[in-house]
Amino acid sequence: MIIGILKEIKVKENRVCMTPAGVIAVIANGHSVLVEKNAGVGSGFSDEEYIAAGATMIETPAEIFKKADMVMHVKEPQPSEYGMLRKGQILFTYLHLAADEPQTKALMESGATCIAYETIQKADKSLPLLTPMSEVAGRMAIQQGAKALEKTNGGLGKLLGGVPGVEPAKVMVIGGGVVGVQAAKMACGLGAQVYLMDINLDRLRYLDDVMPANCTTLMSSKGAIQRLLPEMDLVVGAVLIPGAKAPAVITRDDLKLMKKGSALVDVAIDQGGCFETSKPTTHTEPTYEVDGVVHYCVANIPGAVPMTSTMALTNATLPYTIEIANKGWKQACIDNKEIKLGLNVHEGKLTYRAVCDAFDLPY
Ligand code: NAD
Repeated sequence: MIIGILKEIKVKENRVCMTPAGVIAVIANGHSVLVEKNAGVGSGFSDEEYIAAGATMIETPAEIFKKADMVMHVKEPQPSEYGMLRKGQILFTYLHLAADEPQTKALMESGATCIAYETIQKADKSLPLLTPMSEVAGRMAIQQGAKALEKTNGGLGKLLGGVPGVEPAKVMVIGGGVVGVQAAKMACGLGAQVYLMDINLDRLRYLDDVMPANCTTLMSSKGAIQRLLPEMDLVVGAVLIPGAKAPAVITRDDLKLMKKGSALVDVAIDQGGCFETSKPTTHTEPTYEVDGVVHYCVANIPGAVPMTSTMALTNATLPYTIEIANKGWKQACIDNKEIKLGLNVHEGKLTYRAVCDAFDLPY
């Protein structure tokens, strides 16, 4: 199969959907790889590295769409690319169709077979191509929270880990899933006193076993959060209720309980945010202040570290890419239920229930 690696054209997207190491692995399976010129530059991979890996560099996206059996991106295709997709071609990338009617219509009109990273799902219901980005965002949440606590950024002026003879900061992490665990681990590693909260008791039992001694696990509730808030220096919001808007676990009124200069990092902002006072921000202007509390609410946190994010994402996508290339999309879907759940559009028809429901179309 000929696989086309497109350069990202969405604003401020620096990731790339395959590393040179990925190219080597795909070619070893008997396929050829076309890479758009400069596709990897934003993630630190030069054209020369792709050539050394065995890829053929291509000047324009149009040529890749024309020649490739499967085209790959990180983000969804942009309007300038819709017309280049064609029947019989596989598109493998993040799509997020339920929130994007124009794109859904365009992909249906193209006749292409579109497999979405975000709906590939394992038997345990986990989403293996979303997990790596949650891991990055969780770890970044503490890095950004630490910055928000610096005096020059409007914060308390407190170091997360303290120093010998000076107590460390207190960090509350609400939600003990992928994001929450990575955030809690980072904060613990820096020496902070960490409180990790979730509503799932089985999850708390597991977390209590695996987290270090400076992490206390707590059942999350309005009362428990309000009781702890006055002592907290940094709060990370990492809750998720699949398919629903995030619940407001901290309200505007609750901010009165918090210290001036303390910080909130709302990682769940891409699902509407889990603090009432959250509104999406960007890497250019990541923070704002409400009632003396610094808010960090960047909706695309992994975008700040494209080199790490690219490697984390491609580690996860590569086995699926190789399976689809080796077997063709149809046999791959028959053999592997995870890939079948990734199929969103095929020859003009929507093939994923939640997307049909979003547009009131029959499944
Ligand atoms: P996850 O499903 O692994 O974990 C969510 C956890 O929240 C679960 O353990 C669940 O029990 C818990 N939870 C639900 N309601 C709760 C409540 N009221 N109080 C406490 N805990 C509660 O999800 P995840 O992968 O960790 O993702 C968390 C959020 O981060 C999601 O909204 C996701 O979209 C978002 N995210 C954002 C970015 C970004 O760049 N901003 C990047 C990646 C993920």
